[in-house]
Amino acid sequence: MTSASDDRGFETRAIHAGQDPDPFTGAVVPPISISTTFAQQGVGRHHGWEYSRSANPTRAALEMCLASLEGARHGFAFASGLAAEDAVLRQLPAGAGIVLGGDAYGGTFRLIDKVYGASGHPWTAVDLTDAAALDARWPEGTRVVWAETPTNPAMAVVDIAAVAEVAHDHGAWLVVDNTFASPFLQQPLALGADVVVHSATKYLGGHSDVVGGFVAVDDDDVAVRLGFTQNAVGSVPSPIDCYLVQRGLKTLGLRMERHCDNARAVVDLLADHPAVARVLWPGLPDHPGHDIAKRQMRDFGGMVSFVARGGEEAAVAICERTELFTLAESLGAVESLIEHPARMTHASAAGSALAVEPGLVRLSVGIESAADLVADLRQALDAVS
Ligand SMILES: *Cc1c(COP(=O)(O)O)cnc(C)c1O
Repeated sequence: MTSASDDRGFETRAIHAGQDPDPFTGAVVPPISISTTFAQQGVGRHHGWEYSRSANPTRAALEMCLASLEGARHGFAFASGLAAEDAVLRQLPAGAGIVLGGDAYGGTFRLIDKVYGASGHPWTAVDLTDAAALDARWPEGTRVVWAETPTNPAMAVVDIAAVAEVAHDHGAWLVVDNTFASPFLQQPLALGADVVVHSATKYLGGHSDVVGGFVAVDDDDVAVRLGFTQNAVGSVPSPIDCYLVQRGLKTLGLRMERHCDNARAVVDLLADHPAVARVLWPGLPDHPGHDIAKRQMRDFGGMVSFVARGGEEAAVAICERTELFTLAESLGAVESLIEHPARMTHASAAGSALAVEPGLVRLSVGIESAADLVADLRQALDAVS
């Protein structure tokens, strides 16, 4: 779906872009279009809607809104974040190579390694926090650089503008997975990225009740190809799922502000606690990516990782001792979650170049009362120190 240019503020667009009141009933919330098919006035004469895999009004409304929030000309919604990533990777010519950052979402690694790698797309892990090194050691045949920033779970920061320049110099695309930051905190297309992908399951939906994905691009030709793939492959979200993501978007700005504030409170505790060896959060002035994050992000986000001083055993014990922080995979929703990446979300990267430190704990800091979150973590940390 192509979005109209709209220079209103982020929160205004989150609530209104693609969301005009229903012209027939005046309903302030546009109805969920559950119909799979649409009546035609004559053969091939219709209102622009034929069959819901190809296009659906509820999905189109979401695509218009999310494209607007990413500052993109075009947006495409998918059934999951990985389906969105797959639609992007399908655009690669046969044999084209992929560069993946030094750490990445486990499912992205699995898709690139086990699905695309196995079907003839060589991939290389490169530390994307060093754009000059990427330029100097550019793997021959690479057509796409796949970056997350901040990264999952190590919270490294990639300089989007610098990496985009290197990728473009070598005739490749830069794809940015913007799931951790959300478009409220960071808009990669404006910094030079070619494609933005999202797991809408996380901050966009925001309530742990819908799985979804999204792709945003500016280039009109790439948009045509992505639209073709969306229809031809068919991994589209249901209208109800589109509605749930849309509903989440309306509070994205408010939620992100609170996620960031609560993360700050949690980091203050972690930074001074004897059970913690290292805190990984780009808001810390001694974080190696702090200055870049300050430049390319509005705030530092609600994801916080830390390394337990007692190593893997202590990390696992902390994860099992919190009460308010629920031990679970996923992230980005209103409730706080804790997990052990090496054994949970990133188990599929074990033994690879993307394997994660065994003492690492990842927090998705929710929007509960900050004092309660800090108290919960303190009792869990006290118990292992
Ligand atoms: C969850 C996640 C994905 C995959 O999204 P799904 O909706 O689970 O398919 C991709 N990238 C990041 C950074 C994620 O956190």
